Amino acid sequence: MTELERHDYDVVVIGAGGAGLRAAIEARQQGKRVAVVCKSLFGKAHTVMAEGGIAASMGNVNSNDNWQVHFRDTMRGGKFLNNWRMAELHAKEAPDRVWELETYGALFDRTKDGRISQRNFGGHEYPRLAHVGDRTGLELIRSLQQKIVSLQQEDKAETGDYESRLKVFAECTVTELLLDGDRISGAFGYWRESGRFVLFGAPAVVLATGGIGKSFKVTSNSWEYTGDGHALALRAGASLINMEFVQFHPTGMVWPPSVKGILVTESVRGDGGVLRNSDGKRFMFDYIPDVFKDKYADNEEEADRWYTDQGNNRRPPELLPRDEVARAINSEVKAGRGSPHGGVFLDVSSRLPAEEIIRRLPSMHHQFKELADVDITKEPMEVGPTCHYVMGGVEVEPDTAASSVPGLFAAGEVAGGMHGSNRLGGNSLSDLLVFGRRAGAGAAAYVDGLADKTPVISESDVDAASRRAVAVFEGGEAGAQENPYSVHTQLQQTMNDLVGIIRRGGEVEQALVQLEELKQRARNIVVEGHRQFNPGWHLALDLRNMLLVSECVAKAALLRTESRGGHTREDHPGMDAEWRRQLLVCTASGDGVDVTPKDQIPLRPDLLGLFEYTELAKYFTPGELADIPAKES
Ligand code: FAD
Repeated sequence: MTELERHDYDVVVIGAGGAGLRAAIEARQQGKRVAVVCKSLFGKAHTVMAEGGIAASMGNVNSNDNWQVHFRDTMRGGKFLNNWRMAELHAKEAPDRVWELETYGALFDRTKDGRISQRNFGGHEYPRLAHVGDRTGLELIRSLQQKIVSLQQEDKAETGDYESRLKVFAECTVTELLLDGDRISGAFGYWRESGRFVLFGAPAVVLATGGIGKSFKVTSNSWEYTGDGHALALRAGASLINMEFVQFHPTGMVWPPSVKGILVTESVRGDGGVLRNSDGKRFMFDYIPDVFKDKYADNEEEADRWYTDQGNNRRPPELLPRDEVARAINSEVKAGRGSPHGGVFLDVSSRLPAEEIIRRLPSMHHQFKELADVDITKEPMEVGPTCHYVMGGVEVEPDTAASSVPGLFAAGEVAGGMHGSNRLGGNSLSDLLVFGRRAGAGAAAYVDGLADKTPVISESDVDAASRRAVAVFEGGEAGAQENPYSVHTQLQQTMNDLVGIIRRGGEVEQALVQLEELKQRARNIVVEGHRQFNPGWHLALDLRNMLLVSECVAKAALLRTESRGGHTREDHPGMDAEWRRQLLVCTASGDGVDVTPKDQIPLRPDLLGLFEYTELAKYFTPGELADIPAKES
């Protein structure tokens, strides 16, 4: 039997970003003993890096906003591929979750009359993003952590132990989920610092591990985002959906090379910033797709008037959904109208006074000054697309966040469905809170419903997990030894070049061949040294997940022969209404992945009624439209 420490809980939450913390709070409030496990420091998650804000239709800045408008915008942004029940719950519950954060101690920026201020963002019809300057994620994490501490104080008063009901295990990476038959029995992992193994026994696990961006070369994501939760779910028998949809944020830094990919928040455009090419042309007017023509201004005068009079003017095209803007920038650069370092210009300096830029965008001002020696109050930024977010993830039941594996739940970026083929900015932070809470409640209810609350952990499964974890110290095939860094670099290049922002069938096929080769090379990875803080070993373990998840992305991208949202096929440039009715479902098969189509559940009639017939006609098949009465629009 492997030597390890063991901890038993009712619910283990893997991930301490917004989704994980909100799930942990909920499960603890419902009386469960909860562990939160995170591979980085507590408080260091993507959520803390979120800049622009949380989308919630509070209607504080424009009283026309309400959940129905937010629902419509979310479905349009996702090109109607979203799980509509998730989009409905999200739009209805986001305002309550924002209010609730203030009861935990958050303090959002205010309107002049003291209400929570809301800013414009791409794809949102009204100003909708509650924010704290451009450091909203920091406030979100700070207040969720504060709530956790206050719950721990209550537990101390009652039991004498702060951690009796809610404990954080930081810098601890989970490498395997454990099953008792077909249901969850726990999780296996290791302490990053000591390399020692650790076992969590629990009937319910909530995955809240975030995204997959580290499989791509140019990315806004940090080192933790290696698709661990996606891979853990697959291996435990759950399915993933929408994996072909990866969001390339239009504006990442492009210069200097050491910071390429770091995010430039969409708030720059929301607050008036414009995109120009090397000819000085504000080019987004040339890229308004037909489906959005009635909502976006086709001339500069109207676009500029919109900032002060939204009732009588259409929105500037810089605020189109992210997939549209990213493709437009890509086309300008390809056509030879890019900036000196291969991006385009994003200018806010000629649009707002310097003091206003520093007040509204303090992090961006600091980021460009420190990293690129550019003063954004005086000169434009150079920006280009960067891999940012994965729309695909664990297929869950919308109301409870339950996966198909009993006892396994997923929320936040690791869950799929909510955002369809493209996420709107600001809709992730609200997603984390809405579905984090639902996952915590779902896990607690699941545990309550169990007759036997202590599923058995098999010794042989634990031994196998530990053997797999240390295999890389033992040496691969003689003469073929690989190091994890070169395999990772090649994987990132492959995904960037062949399964990136613009895809072609032949190139994706090439990527799949390369992924097979990389899988083979990964079997020969050898890591020097021992288990005490050994980054090479950590990467070798993460690579297993990145390769599996990359295979999901590539296989689904090859099958989906249309362009929709974050998935652009140059060889299939249009949206195909038949494909809107299909989800691609990934399941584990041997050490690889099978991808099969599955029908979407048709939109509920009352939700369908929120759209004009003419709009639905742009997305739906003639067969589907036949059942919808054509309304005058
Ligand atoms: P994360 O916050 O990503 O947290 C994941 C957690 O899982 C971490 O604690 C990590 O350590 C842990 N973990 C991962 N793997 C393991 C493992 N194997 N074992 C143990 N722990 C593990 N969205 C918005 O809505 N508005 C914005 O303004 C915005 N700005 C953004 C800016 C940047 C720079 C970035 C990168 C993203 C931004 N996003 C924004 C997106 C949003 O921040 C993320 O989608 C969201 O925070 C994901 O939250 P999460 O709770 O799902 O996971």
